[in-house]
Amino acid sequence: MNKLRFQALRDAVNRPTNSFHVEEKKSTLFESHVFTKKAMRTFLTKQAFLEVDEAIEKGTKITRAVSDHVAASMKDWAMSMGATHYTHWFQPLTGATAEKHDAFFDIDANGEGLEHFDGSQLVQQEPDASSFPNGGIRNTFEARGYTAWDPSSPAFIYDTTLCIPTIFVSYTGEALDNKTPLLRALSAVDVAATQVAKYFDKNVTRVQATLGWEQEYFLVDKALASTRPDIMLAGRALVGHPPPKGQQLDDHYFGSIPNRAINFMRELEYNSMLLGIPVKTRHNEVAPNQFELAPIFEEANLAVDHNALLMDIMGKIASKHQFKVLLHEKPFSGINGSGKHNNWSLLTNTGVNLLSPGKTPMSNLQFLTFFITTIKAVQNYESLIRSSIASAGNDHRLGGNEAPPAIISVFIGSQLSAVLSDLENVSKGKLSPQEKTDLKLNVVGKIPEILLDNTDRNRTSPFAFTGNKFEFRAVGSNQNCAIPMTVLNTIVAKQLIDFKKEVDALIKSKKLKKDDAIFNVLREYIKNTKNILFDGDGYSDSWQKEAARRGLSNLKTTPEALRIRLDETVINLFDSMGVMNPVEQKARYEIQMEQYVQRIEIESLILENLVNDQILPASFKYQHMLIQNVEGLKHIYEKNFSKHAHVALGSIEKISALLDALNSSCDDLRDARTKANSMSKLDDKAQMYASNVLPIFDTIRKAADGLELIIDDSSWPLAKFRELLFLR
Ligand code: ADP
Ligand code: MG
Repeated sequence: MNKLRFQALRDAVNRPTNSFHVEEKKSTLFESHVFTKKAMRTFLTKQAFLEVDEAIEKGTKITRAVSDHVAASMKDWAMSMGATHYTHWFQPLTGATAEKHDAFFDIDANGEGLEHFDGSQLVQQEPDASSFPNGGIRNTFEARGYTAWDPSSPAFIYDTTLCIPTIFVSYTGEALDNKTPLLRALSAVDVAATQVAKYFDKNVTRVQATLGWEQEYFLVDKALASTRPDIMLAGRALVGHPPPKGQQLDDHYFGSIPNRAINFMRELEYNSMLLGIPVKTRHNEVAPNQFELAPIFEEANLAVDHNALLMDIMGKIASKHQFKVLLHEKPFSGINGSGKHNNWSLLTNTGVNLLSPGKTPMSNLQFLTFFITTIKAVQNYESLIRSSIASAGNDHRLGGNEAPPAIISVFIGSQLSAVLSDLENVSKGKLSPQEKTDLKLNVVGKIPEILLDNTDRNRTSPFAFTGNKFEFRAVGSNQNCAIPMTVLNTIVAKQLIDFKKEVDALIKSKKLKKDDAIFNVLREYIKNTKNILFDGDGYSDSWQKEAARRGLSNLKTTPEALRIRLDETVINLFDSMGVMNPVEQKARYEIQMEQYVQRIEIESLILENLVNDQILPASFKYQHMLIQNVEGLKHIYEKNFSKHAHVALGSIEKISALLDALNSSCDDLRDARTKANSMSKLDDKAQMYASNVLPIFDTIRKAADGLELIIDDSSWPLAKFRELLFLR
């Protein structure tokens, strides 16, 4: 038996459950490692607290004196919790999180040791940033990058380190991270949505975007995973035959959670609670060994930070439970991949969810305003939305036949469709002041009742309205939510600004009453957004054809999708909305294209290694054994031997054919890669990787999986899907 695999199997089977149990109530644990407003009240002077609070609520600047005071208090709080180090915690364009720990410990002028942390250390740092991707920004400008404190996301302690959420910008102010554009987009949607919400309620002074993500992931035994360089290095299995029993019986979804998994979840939830991540839901997902975790929704910036933090600690805690957690969008072919639904809405400072139908016709007009403008925004920028979730990993879901398709459409359900159609037909032309307002209020008034029955859901839709929020379902499990959230909030902000201009113009020029003007603009939007609405089966072939007829994009690969970012309309959109200037946008395009190329290049190298140093040798060994068997038979039976040896001979031939296929497709892979790498333009290179390199993976896989089925199980070196995917 292959030694490593055998040992791994034995470890996995005999693994004792690492139980985890906590006595305290969740509410006691919640945010206990976070420098919350409550903690600030205890540790800060009243004046300092008020200044920080204003900075959090209104984005005002914090003075140097106060930042010194906050730093000292933060240090006291952190040390009282056992922290010894601090770090500026940020989200560079790698998509992951970054940190560099410094001790509070210092030596004063007299050579005495002390603990020190002041305002300058809190507010700004200069990490050695040259190794983070910058897409040429820092070559063009200035080589330095700075991290700067983001008071809107509270500091927290993880392990013994005080983590201070920060933005990461270049010397000249260009964003080098995912958080900065997000904050700008959230500010844009705040301003635009507040202006529109004021039509309905003068007391609205602020609108927050809210986000509730649902994180899907796989757990596999660490020892079994370690027999697989593909899983360890690329996060996904590049070869491997699907197990005879996968998800056909639907017996995993919502089933009872395996013991080992539940103990991991408990420890993860415990740590999430301490860090203020309000996790609430856990369950088995569709595929074997696949699970989901979802929190209570939060303000979008905080929710994005919390998701990034969660993905980081998941790996660490999984390791304690002898698991490897897989966040890849498609770790195992033949069974479902993992996504991360982004539930999104808008919330006023008066506590109203703007995407929740109200009790009165007027509040429903408000609901319809935000509902319809969001649909319009998605329609205008459907391809940009697709590009916001582009990655090599996510292409396996979006371009493959599962999860949402690469075509962006909006599902609103039959009842809201009926409401929109009623609204559209309330009167023929533009509603004039003379027309009975009853008519439209009637239609508008019907909504809350109708929505009570929110049963018709469509799981194939990438962007679905689910009663009081939109659910963007095409986000990949491994992605930083900041990118799709930046896009969504920017396009909605833009649409709300345009909407307000149109309404104000009607009020001014046509002398319409406010709600008549709103009503008229919305009705035009309803007429013009039919293309993006789709309630049918998003996986069907007929939808691909229908979508093409409607002029919707169907960008199956990352290079195609990323190209959208260079469209003039897109560059102007982000620039005019103050979210990203053209330099920042082009940098992101380059970085993501580069990442796409690198990911596939790395995978192709892993695949080649797997074939050469694992699959070929195992196949040769087994084939050699068969040959010896045939030789033995020949010795015994002489002339008659082929009658007895035909099974072995057949296997020898099959193996030869598969080895031949494997060998020649590996040659093809190398050639295709060399050719792609010789392209001088990044765009051409990425395109070559998508259309020439990646398809060869499938040919190699087919041959390798064929061999897996023939070769003696005991000499196969890689843990098989049937072993990886069923937790004992
Ligand atoms: P499901 O979509 O699985 O049926 P729910 O509809 O209950 O489940 O909610 C899923 C997610 O949506 C949760 O993470 C929840 O916090 C989030 N959510 C609910 N309301 C909002 C909202 N107003 N804004 C953002 N996210 C929300
Ligand atoms: Mg959901």
